[in-house]
Amino acid sequence: MVSQEIHERPGGSLYVGSIPRGCVLCEHGSKMVLFTTGLCDASCFYCPLSSEKAHRDIVFADEMPVDNDEDILYEAEAIGAEGAGLSGGDPLCVLSRTLHYIQLLKDHFGSDFHLHLYTAQSDASSKTIQSLADAGLDEIRFHPQGPDWSGIEAALRTNMTVGIEIPVLPDHDDSIKRTVVRADELGLAFVNLNELEASETNFQRLRSRGYHLRDMSSASIAGSAETAVRVLRWWSDHGGISLHYCSSRYKDTVQMRNRLWRRLQHTQREFEEADDDEPLLILGVVRAHHGERAELETLKRVYRVLAEEFEVPRELMNLDLQHERVEVAPWVLDEIADVLQERLPEPRALEIGIAYEYPTRDRLQVRFDPL
Ligand code: SF4
Repeated sequence: MVSQEIHERPGGSLYVGSIPRGCVLCEHGSKMVLFTTGLCDASCFYCPLSSEKAHRDIVFADEMPVDNDEDILYEAEAIGAEGAGLSGGDPLCVLSRTLHYIQLLKDHFGSDFHLHLYTAQSDASSKTIQSLADAGLDEIRFHPQGPDWSGIEAALRTNMTVGIEIPVLPDHDDSIKRTVVRADELGLAFVNLNELEASETNFQRLRSRGYHLRDMSSASIAGSAETAVRVLRWWSDHGGISLHYCSSRYKDTVQMRNRLWRRLQHTQREFEEADDDEPLLILGVVRAHHGERAELETLKRVYRVLAEEFEVPRELMNLDLQHERVEVAPWVLDEIADVLQERLPEPRALEIGIAYEYPTRDRLQVRFDPL
């Protein structure tokens, strides 16, 4: 055995060997997360799925609920995706849908569009595994639920890259090492170790087993990172299969942030500005006060006032029915705010301000500066 160097990545992530292709694209923020279903046959006590998703047969592309194939293609275009990770739940619980999505994405974006899939079914049948390879899946990651690895062995007989992806339970060094050794002996390409994270749904279950948060500023579970580091050090002395530890800080500060920057660049409209430091869009807004609703007729009148009395060009504003507001270029609204206040059809019912929002489908607003 040849010893291998431990490489550091931002946010405390580490690896020996090389990084799986699916993870490289994730780091660029160019991998769409395609949540194929909330259904899953496993029942991991640490399952982080939210109550809106767990056990529900629903589909999301990143944060966007999916009604049809066009929604998936739209989101992939919106982040300039170079690939997608199919997850859940377990995509194999809805196999025909999963096969359809693999073909859809390969047909639309071409064979280089990289697809990886995560499943708990390490005992999946050869027929199931072969159908994924035939549809065009590039990489499959198993989260084994028991000693039967027949599905993993079947995957090794295809042209897919095969890996293991598991959460790091604190102080479970021995069982993780056994998994790494078995994966290495079978000839898998990689083992991914994910830092264990708390969520609103798994927190009580984790606490009842004695786990607790590392600190109040993150969702990381204390001891998970240390366990991963010990396993990496041990494996670096052995050599062999690539081992990759992905920290929750890395997911938040690198992967997520990069994806938001990409989405901002691909979806920014002519009347929006981009923040210099954060992936935030800045726009002027006329809307009802917080917690209240604006009548469509009122918003239409605001739009007319802006167009006819203030001669705001149509390409610098928008009537947003979904968010019940009129959007205006912030540099324009800033200039006319005082006079506009007096000209609003229902001045007491409306407020004017500059909004700072993430470029996600739901446009999460993080700041509103009244004018
Ligand atoms: S395999 Fe994944 S989705 Fe299924 S129960 Fe376990 S953690 Fe949750």
